[in-house]
Amino acid sequence: MARVSIDEGLCKGCELCIPFCPHDSLTISRHLNEHGLSTVYFKEDHPCSGCKYCAVMCPEAAIEIFK
Ligand code: SF4
Ligand code: SF4
Repeated sequence: MARVSIDEGLCKGCELCIPFCPHDSLTISRHLNEHGLSTVYFKEDHPCSGCKYCAVMCPEAAIEIFK
């Protein structure tokens, strides 16, 4: 399984990446980053196929996928 890394400092909580995950593995957190914005996180009990759709869609380049 691939590993997802989301840079909290870069994420602006736009939620654009969420619907592009074919496994519904991303969601928005109540946790605020240093800019006072809610950030997206990876649901650890969900799979990641490493498709990189989320990373490609992110306008902030906040997501990295490691295989
Ligand atoms: S790489 Fe693909 S499967 Fe993994 S979290 Fe991103 S969109 Fe979902
Ligand atoms: S698309 Fe990028 S900036 Fe927007 S919520 Fe997802 S990770 Fe954060």
